[in-house]
Amino acid sequence: MAGESGLDGAWTRRWIETIAARVAERKAELTSLDRAIGDADHGENLDRGFQAVLGKLDTLDAGATPGAVLKLVATTLISTVGGAAGPLYGTAFLKGAMAAGDRQSLDAAGLVEVLGAARDGIVARGKAELQDKTMVDAWTPAVDAASAAGDDVRAALEAAATAAAEGAVATEPLVAHKGRASYLGERAIGHRDPGAESTALMLRAAADTQ
Ligand code: ADP
Ligand code: MG
Repeated sequence: MAGESGLDGAWTRRWIETIAARVAERKAELTSLDRAIGDADHGENLDRGFQAVLGKLDTLDAGATPGAVLKLVATTLISTVGGAAGPLYGTAFLKGAMAAGDRQSLDAAGLVEVLGAARDGIVARGKAELQDKTMVDAWTPAVDAASAAGDDVRAALEAAATAAAEGAVATEPLVAHKGRASYLGERAIGHRDPGAESTALMLRAAADTQ
């Protein structure tokens, strides 16, 4: 249960199931963002990955910790999602799993540690800075907002989701400095970054998961 007891392994599992359902629903939209400034595969890439994750969730113990769930997501995404986003999201979930460690549940401070470690993993791997028009432009405001939200884990999730969505919209006027979109120069202006949008989807799914 979310609430005073924090976010436990069962919550983490429901969160991942919600991501999988929403990626499947919005696959065409994510791919269409990637068609404008990339190679039109972002929705398919993520859908393939999260459908594979769904198929593996049942291999977890009933009492699996948040860290164990996140680690399964990481290894599955790394082995099933290609391109830039597979290794980047794989690293994010792996670093998040490591930050969660053996904890049975995450309070607001634990959530901020997990989100911060995920963002740091993406930055370490992809070397993107803020305003390079990547998923980092959704992750960093989300981590900052969760951190500023205080000790209510639900408020931290809501703040992260809202900030990620705003961060994704704010990629629209930017020129890209990383990934395929960087080849387009000024032609990328006016288009939302697909990875920032999928990050916003994941964090909105977290805020909506009870
Ligand atoms: P590919 O670009 O290989 O086709 P995807 O389409 O699945 O991979 O993912 C593209 C997304 O990956 C971009 O929208 C961007 O958010 C993210 N991305 C690409 N390169 C980087 C990077 N170096 N750092 C952070 N994010 C990146
Ligand atoms: Mg692509």
